[in-house]
This record gives sequence, structure tokens and C-alpha cells, in this order.
Amino acid sequence: MADPILLVGAGQASASCAAKLRALGYDGPLVILGEEQAAPYQRPPLSKKYVSGELALERLFVRPLSWYAEEKIELRLGIRVAALHADAHEVTLDDGRRLRYRQLVLATGSRPRRLAPEIGGDLGGVFTVRNLADADAIAPELQAGRRLIVIGGGYIGLEAAAVAAQKGLAVTVIEMADRILQRVAAAPTSDFFRALHQAHNVAIREATGLAGLVGEGGRLTGVRLRDGTVLPADLAIVGIGILPNDELAREAGLAVDGGILVDAQCRTSAPDIFAAGDCANFLWGGVRTRLESVQNAIDQAEHAAGIIMGGSADYDPKPWFWSDQYDVKLQIAGLNRGYDSTVVRPGKRPQSQSVWYFRAGHFIAVDAMNEALAYALGKKAIEAGKSPDPAALADPNSDLKSLLA
Ligand code: FAD
Repeated sequence: MADPILLVGAGQASASCAAKLRALGYDGPLVILGEEQAAPYQRPPLSKKYVSGELALERLFVRPLSWYAEEKIELRLGIRVAALHADAHEVTLDDGRRLRYRQLVLATGSRPRRLAPEIGGDLGGVFTVRNLADADAIAPELQAGRRLIVIGGGYIGLEAAAVAAQKGLAVTVIEMADRILQRVAAAPTSDFFRALHQAHNVAIREATGLAGLVGEGGRLTGVRLRDGTVLPADLAIVGIGILPNDELAREAGLAVDGGILVDAQCRTSAPDIFAAGDCANFLWGGVRTRLESVQNAIDQAEHAAGIIMGGSADYDPKPWFWSDQYDVKLQIAGLNRGYDSTVVRPGKRPQSQSVWYFRAGHFIAVDAMNEALAYALGKKAIEAGKSPDPAALADPNSDLKSLLA
């Protein structure tokens, strides 16, 4: 039998790649190998409606199980790829078996950064949110009256804080940087979300360094700050960023540097091996880029499928992202990398606003909070290379459609 196309990692990117390969007419053997027990599922609800209990498990799956059978995609779960032998076109599985491939796509995703055991990172009651098991472990802990400390004021931490606050926990977010969301957004967006959380009684402590976690009998009892203060806590959620799962590639001798290095066509440094999604570090406009989003996982994986099927186009992402906190839907279009000015456009409803990012006079990204039109029009304008007049944009009474026409 012919060697299969192997997709390593059973997540968003692999499911998208497999679907695209079939859509483009690949009818040969196709195998997805995933170390988790679950079929590919969507992670965004893990820190939103799934952990809060509002969304059932079945709704998380990217495709129903029957789809893999119908499409003759062999889904092998609970199996980790332990080693990759690029010259031999083979992988070794964690049960010792070897499997040949004709082409291989690394879609191994990423994992959360953790706090070291030396500072209490392994105490009971300390969680990260990456997979179903994490969310299933956190959900029963979210009981009214308990004290939660969220370590890290990025989107995942803030989403978890919102869910917990709505369940009646006393929530404190501690952020080392001067402001929450500093890595990903401009100050007006941070200000918006700080105010939103404070309105829901969440304490936001910025410029606050963590010294360690303290516990008793192996269970968390508090969080020690750099100034020596100990904040009592029943549980902590750590959201301090993610690391790409690039070890398999590194150990196989592939080029790796903060993710698996791929060219604009998703090719790694080894023949017939591609990478896509959170684990891939790609060239975009000459700059090394790693995007941690559903948009990128889907589009880049589909692009890799296109290249495997003989395409030659460069991957040109159209970044978009979202976050849900309380009744605010944040939608982000574009990538604000290197922005040098912003314009705030007040919304017409309470809790609505959009923040527009410019680099050297060119409009590059927008954060739209409860502003679906600003998001939709902004996204179109970025893709068309149009830049609105900043002064007119700041006037909430100006007509956005004509500004972006
Ligand atoms: P993953 O979905 O991580 O899948 C990779 C899989 O590969 C994992 O199951 C992993 O266990 C497996 N694997 C790794 N190594 C091996 C191996 N050696 N052998 C076998 N299997 C292996 N994005 C947004 O756009 N919007 C959001 O609102 C948003 N919210 C998020 C909230 C949370 C809590 C999290 C965790 C992520 C969120 N994201 C969001 C990010 C988004 O989910 C990821 O960018 C996306 O899942 C990446 O897909 P992927 O296929 O690259 O990786």
C-alpha cells in the first residue's frame, strides 16, 4: 500500500488540513496522529462557554466522528509521535512502532508556560487552560465565594477571570507588566478591559511581580508577591503565554527557532515535511511570524494542503481573533505589530469602542469592542490596503462606511 500523508497532532490545524486535502482531490491514505484522547476540538470555548458550563462537549468538536470515517481519514488518538526520521520518511510512535509517510505535516500546536515547581507551580489548585482535561478540572472549582487569583492579564486569563467573577468568585488578576494586555494591545484597549473587569468587582493589579505560590498539604493557599505580600487564594489560573511544541522537529534536526521554521509555503527545512498552526514560525513580509489563533491554524493548514497538492502560492494570512468577556465581544482584524499611533473611536452604545492602529500612516489593525461593523469594515479595508483619515475616524458621528470606501 502507498505511504500515507501523516498529520501529527489532532487539533484545529490537522482537521483543516485533512479536509482541504480531500477537497482538493487527494484520495490516498491519510492519517491523523494525536496524543490527546479526543478528536480535534475547538479550544477557544475552554476559557469561555465550555468552562462556564454553557456549552456542551459535543459542540466543541471540529467535525463529528462519523466525518473521519466517511472521508476515509484514519484518526489515531492517544498516540504520541515520539521521534521523526526525516531521511527515512518515518516516524516512531510512543509504543515503539514505526510508520512511513510520503508527506508529513507537523501540527503539534503549543503548550502553556508554567510556573516552576520550585515556586509552587505544581501545587494542587494551580491550573493552566490548554486542553479539555484542564477545563474539566477547573470547572468544578469555580464555586461562589472562593478566591481565584489569575496570574497574567492576557486574553485567556481575562476570559477565565470573567467566567469566575460571573460565578461569584472573588477574583484578582495580577499582571507583571504596567498594564493588562500590554503584549497584544494598545493602552486604550487595556483601559477598556480594566474598567470592564473592575465594574464586575475583579481586582486588577498591574506592575505586580510574582514571587511564588504558597501552599499547605500540597494545596495552594496563597500567592506571594515580590513585595512580600501574600494574597490568600483557593485556586490560581496561570495564563502567562504559550510555547510552541517544536521539540519533535528540533530533535529530528529541522530548523527551529521559537517554533518550527517554515517558508512562505509552509515547508520546513526537511523535504516533504510541512508545519502549520501554533507550532509554525513562518515568513510573512520578510518577518518571522508565529500566530496563535484559529484563523491561522485553519488557513495555514489549508495552505499547506494546497502546496502538497501542487500549489505554489505564498501564504498571506488575513489575521483575525476574538475574545468574549462578560457581554463584550472583542473582534480584532489585522496584526498591530509595529504600530506607531492609534485612534480611539467611541462607540454609540455603552461598553462599545474601537481602537484603530496605524504604522507610518497606514491602517493595519482594529480592536472592535461590541462594534461588529467597525470590525467588518476595518477587516475589508486592511485587506484592500485602504487607510481612513484618523481625525475623521475619531469622530463617532462620522460615517464609517464612507470613511473606508
Ligand atoms: P492545537 O489545537 O493545540 O493542536 C495540537 C495538537 O497536537 C494537540 O492536541 C497536542 O496535544 C497534539 N500534539 C502535540 N505534539 C504531539 C505529538 N508529538 N504527537 C501527537 N500529538 C501531538 N484563538 C482564537 O483565534 N480566538 C480565541 O478566542 C482563542 N481562545 C483560546 C482560548 C484557549 C483557552 C486556548 C487554549 C486557545 C485559544 N485560542 C484562540 C488559540 C487557538 O485555539 C489555537 O491557536 C489553535 O487551537 C491552534 O491550533 P493547532 O492545530 O495549531 O494546535
